[in-house]
Amino acid sequence: MERSVHIQRMIDADSYDLLVIGGGATGSGIAVDAASRGLKVLLVEKNDFAEGTSSRSTKLVHGGVRYLEKAVKHLDKEQYYFVKEGLFERGVILKNAPHLTNKIKFVTPLYKWHELPYIYSGLKLYDILSGKMRLGKSRLLFKNETKQKLPIVNDKGLKGGVLYFDGQFNDARMAVMLVKTAVNNGATAINHMEVTGLIKENGVVSGAVLKDNISFKQYNVRAKAVVNATGAYADFIRKMDDENAEPVLKVSSGIHIVLDKKFAPTDYGMMIPETDDGRVIFVLPWEGYALVGTTDDPTTIKDHPDVTENEIEYVLKQISKYYKNPPRKEDILSAWSGIRPLVKDPDATTTEEILRNHYIEVSNSKLVTITGGKWTSYRRMAEDVVDRVVKEFSFKAGPCITVDLKIAGGENFDPEGFKILKNKYNIDNDIAIHLHKSYGSLAEEVIGSCDMEMGLTRLEKEHPYIEAEVYYCVKNEMVVHVVDFLIRRIPLGLLDKKAAKHASKRVLEIMAHLLGWDDVRISLEQQLINERFDGAI
Ligand SMILES: Cc1cc2nc3c(=O)[nH]c(=O)nc-3n(C[C@H](O)[C@H](O)[C@H](O)COP(=O)(O)OP(=O)(O)OC[C@H]3O[C@@H](n4cnc5c(N)ncnc54)[C@H](O)[C@@H]3O)c2cc1C
Repeated sequence: MERSVHIQRMIDADSYDLLVIGGGATGSGIAVDAASRGLKVLLVEKNDFAEGTSSRSTKLVHGGVRYLEKAVKHLDKEQYYFVKEGLFERGVILKNAPHLTNKIKFVTPLYKWHELPYIYSGLKLYDILSGKMRLGKSRLLFKNETKQKLPIVNDKGLKGGVLYFDGQFNDARMAVMLVKTAVNNGATAINHMEVTGLIKENGVVSGAVLKDNISFKQYNVRAKAVVNATGAYADFIRKMDDENAEPVLKVSSGIHIVLDKKFAPTDYGMMIPETDDGRVIFVLPWEGYALVGTTDDPTTIKDHPDVTENEIEYVLKQISKYYKNPPRKEDILSAWSGIRPLVKDPDATTTEEILRNHYIEVSNSKLVTITGGKWTSYRRMAEDVVDRVVKEFSFKAGPCITVDLKIAGGENFDPEGFKILKNKYNIDNDIAIHLHKSYGSLAEEVIGSCDMEMGLTRLEKEHPYIEAEVYYCVKNEMVVHVVDFLIRRIPLGLLDKKAAKHASKRVLEIMAHLLGWDDVRISLEQQLINERFDGAI
């Protein structure tokens, strides 16, 4: 998956069946679905794969306990089916991407007696809706069990808790592996390639104008169908098609903070069922740290949204009641914000109330737009839109096969495979686990991608990321900027900005050597590193 090879492929191609705009969860999922049905697909992303919302999620593969509560409270059939579908998709993702996912146990600490039966019955219903895809049995916990499972929890007034199960995943790597899966099925995919205009013939969209954000070259590409999967940017592309198109999105932002190890729950996530404004907040164990989020506020669209002081204060305030020793601002290692592409609902008074369902539209000039939904439902969204495209454009295509299609690295995955890596290459346990969980059955290719002794060197002490990954990701995962690697191929940039800035020195050296960068390019990279790790991620 070398970028220059894919650009050449695009230049050589006469035309495509499908041009997919946007390399997040939605676009990369569509590329997998369409390519695996035999269609000729080009996927383009203006930044890095998953640089938008898809690397900024809470990293849960879930039906959504909060949506279930709404379904029951308001007897809302749509919310109910949304949760049920999410629980089915959760099972599919855990099965097809075993390397990038794990089952996670949650404890909900409760301080009022009446909450216990309420939350317990809700989570039992969550179990029932999971059907065969159930990950474990929810149950009530006594106070002592709650404390034992969540040693960080504030036990003053604690009555007990409820244990339940959900899925957790590595969102950024999932998107990259989906792109790889699409490519393995014949797709062409290019990051840092922006759609700047649509081409029309006789009033029908027949391709797009692309700008390479690395070389600044421009290309015209022809495609029978063009799918707009640009998340929060969907209305921008719709306006390229029809300047009078009414916006369909009402976006909202959500932040996450990462807290030092001492605030991290060990094996169990903590679900805070009700904040002051009736939301849910999760405190998750993530790479040994605590990932906390999220918020829901109206926002404007930006590639790298800022995290405001108010948002940070809100999150710290909401979680402080639940911690024995509440974290303070100084304990935050990193924070970032993501934008939800929510489909407008005239009846909703806040963005929080808007249903997370997806939306598909075919314009008069045949631009296909898909937006909304959530990460967990990416596969279903892709199936729905490709079904629609096949019908609308009378394509000859096979049936959808993605329920049983392994995501790259998930083929022949052995859960104990990290032990083999550890013994065969004599590497530390944490490095073996990291490689195994990030690259799955491709982990040995990563180790073999450069001189072994040098390649096994850690990029940052106390973190399991190694130099060989830089070599591998440049050659095989289209890493073009240092920050692409540090934020989305490994999660260091999201976990700890200071550590990422420190590691960037060595990553820059390796990439400059590999890609033959001159001084101008090196200083541009340094500028990007400073922007990302001193400012908004
Ligand atoms: C705070 C937060 C927490 C969340 N947590 C969860 C969770 O735990 N579980 C879950 O299932 N879901 C979660 N979600 C929802 C989920 O993250 C999103 O639904 C999903 O990532 C949206 O993916 P997307 O591909 O539609 O959008 P994006 O990931 O934003 O991708 C769209 C892409 O299009 C690109 N693009 C835009 N314009 C152009 C152009 N002109 N040319 C080329 N490319 C272009 C953008 O750069 C972007 O990368 C969360 C969302 C938020 C905001």
